[in-house]
Amino acid sequence: MKASAFDYARATSVANALELLTAHGERARVLAGGQSLLPAMNLRLIAPELIIDIGELDELRGVAARGGVLTIGALTRHADLQKSPEIAVHAPLLMDAVAHVAHPAIRNRGTIGGSLAQADPASELPACMLALGATIIARGPGGERRIAADEFFAGIYETALTPQELLVAVELPAQPKDSMHYFQEFSRRHGDYAIVGLAAQALVRDGRFADLRLGFFAVGDRPLLARSAGKLLDVAVTPAVLSEVSSALDEELSSLGDQQATPAMRRHLARVLLTRCVSSLLARTDLCAG
Ligand code: FAD
Repeated sequence: MKASAFDYARATSVANALELLTAHGERARVLAGGQSLLPAMNLRLIAPELIIDIGELDELRGVAARGGVLTIGALTRHADLQKSPEIAVHAPLLMDAVAHVAHPAIRNRGTIGGSLAQADPASELPACMLALGATIIARGPGGERRIAADEFFAGIYETALTPQELLVAVELPAQPKDSMHYFQEFSRRHGDYAIVGLAAQALVRDGRFADLRLGFFAVGDRPLLARSAGKLLDVAVTPAVLSEVSSALDEELSSLGDQQATPAMRRHLARVLLTRCVSSLLARTDLCAG
């Protein structure tokens, strides 16, 4: 199928993009890498009257580490994240996760800003933002807004952005040097959207999780930070503790059923990921201590 007719404007600056968004609001859509927007338009799931192409706004591209904060421009492509030395050092969780986003051709065009603004509940990067404690930076007619990642995702394809706002960057706080991460997902084939996935960032001290941020995806209408499960693991982990945490996780998840999996299957897979994550992280601390 082909998209409905639309007007096209190439933004010449962030200010120009914001002027266009202010003037056209809900009738317009921002075009970044186009890897989600264009298929949705071609399938006529959406029919914006105006496309605002931000692809040439180089000021929105790039990764910088300064003063203990990693700033990633909204137009930074998935493939650039994979090649970034700053990401490798300061956010290796993101490095592992991006390898699971679609395929090289899509990663060469798709952007981090597009992925977060799209807010597909089965996407990898939104869950990483929860695990990494990210702040999403948006600009609109009222100036700049900083939104904590766990307040940004509002439902299936819904975010805290207003139709007049542009996502301009993401900030990630520096992780302690001994911080560890875990990423895994179940999908039918590598590169498919996940059936269930987990992005986790952890701090282990004296054999206990001093901080464990569990970002699940494809478990409900948005990515989920499993706070109760993370907190319950701040003890010496035994099989009994793990069983208690699995029950707490069941209560936190609001799994949806679809053609890929039933809610019960999703809850089961989430528990499997949790167990594997805990075992893997604790095994690594044992190895480090040895
Ligand atoms: P676009 O398609 O340009 O935009 C997506 C949405 O975000 C639009 O509504 C647009 O208006 C809005 N938007 C974009 N940038 C901004 C901004 N800066 N400010 C405000 N709004 C903005 N993704 C995954 O996460 N995991 C997968 O496994 C996966 N598999 C895929 C498989 C296929 C076959 C395809 C075609 C896509 C897949 N994707 C997957 C999606 C892909 O990763 C997209 O790149 C990503 O979701 C959107 O990035 P984009 O830059 O292409 O955004």
